[in-house]
Amino acid sequence: MGLSASRGSGYARRMVSHPKIVALIVAAGQGSRAGGDLPKQFRRIGGRAVLAHAYDGLAAHPAIEAIHIVLGEGQEAEARALLGDRAVAAFVTGADSRRGSVRAGLEAIAAADGADIVLIHDAARPYLPTAMIDRLLAALETAQGAIPALPVADTLVRGADGVMGEGVDRGALYRVQTPQAFRFDTILAAHRGWDERREATDDAQILRGWGHDVLLVQGDERLEKLTYPQDFARAEAMIARTTRVGMGYDVHRLAEDEELWLGGLLIPHDRGLAGHSDADVALHAIVDAILGALAEGDIGSHFPPSDPKWRGASSDKFLAYACDRVAARDGRIEHVDLTIICEAPKIGPHREAMRARIADILAVPVDRVSVKATTTERLGFAGRREGIAAQAVATLSLPALS
Ligand code: MG
Repeated sequence: MGLSASRGSGYARRMVSHPKIVALIVAAGQGSRAGGDLPKQFRRIGGRAVLAHAYDGLAAHPAIEAIHIVLGEGQEAEARALLGDRAVAAFVTGADSRRGSVRAGLEAIAAADGADIVLIHDAARPYLPTAMIDRLLAALETAQGAIPALPVADTLVRGADGVMGEGVDRGALYRVQTPQAFRFDTILAAHRGWDERREATDDAQILRGWGHDVLLVQGDERLEKLTYPQDFARAEAMIARTTRVGMGYDVHRLAEDEELWLGGLLIPHDRGLAGHSDADVALHAIVDAILGALAEGDIGSHFPPSDPKWRGASSDKFLAYACDRVAARDGRIEHVDLTIICEAPKIGPHREAMRARIADILAVPVDRVSVKATTTERLGFAGRREGIAAQAVATLSLPALS
């Protein structure tokens, strides 16, 4: 079985219907191999508990509605303290085995209205690229289960008593990671039907035992599980992020017989902006600010004005594209600050709608979008009402190692 190709990001935007997608974090382990007094999911890397990193990786995906966490007996108070104000649908007490813990979590989800899809994730995997979730959800369009898997690079051999034996064909072997994604009703049935006398180290084995194919999708080295003491230092480097700032500037001409599209809104005005696309200077400035922060060229290099495909194009497409570029780099949009420079129309009455529209296209909370406006005291082209200018600053967070 081959690995399915990467599907990129933007899952939520492409969704036609909206299945209920929930996540289950398995955090019940005692983690003795990792050293230290604390179970590894409660130890901190980069100032945050490993469990909180796992939570944040899932919560960053817009399609995930609720997160349930399975803990060991008596661990709830500590977990609540480490998670702070993060919303948890339910804390569930696990069992002696991983299988038993997942079963308890699935039963709790079933009792709380169920779900269409569940992502089952190990708490000890602190780094989860958002694009990984997109690949898993895409695979579930044609399967009951999908898991991240990586090919094996090292030569593999059997061995006994310290002596090398036969070589093993690594071409047919994969390392399996989490989150593992399943149709909820199917994995619940598979768990309920599992022979309690047998163990299984993951849920994909249980689904397979129930007679369903499990698709392998491209895993990610950064998803490695923390197991040994030295893994924590590696994870510190991996989760480090850097802040990037980009700026954008755009001008379009005002003309008769044009609609005025500004900040993603159609605004009633006696004239509108002219240009190859819908000429929304505000969105164009934001696109350039985001591309600038990524150091990936400008709007013209991605959407050449010479290409007839973009004639009259709605500029929200350009902005959604810039967002996909951010997601492809595993980045986050922390903030966008926009200034519109014009004599008329007045921006104030449209400011809140514009913030909401831009936040919606960027898929960020509205408090990360600032919209400001100024005139130029009737000086220059903007002052003479010949055109409208906009400038934007975008602040992104990107992985420090990339
Ligand atoms: Mg433009």
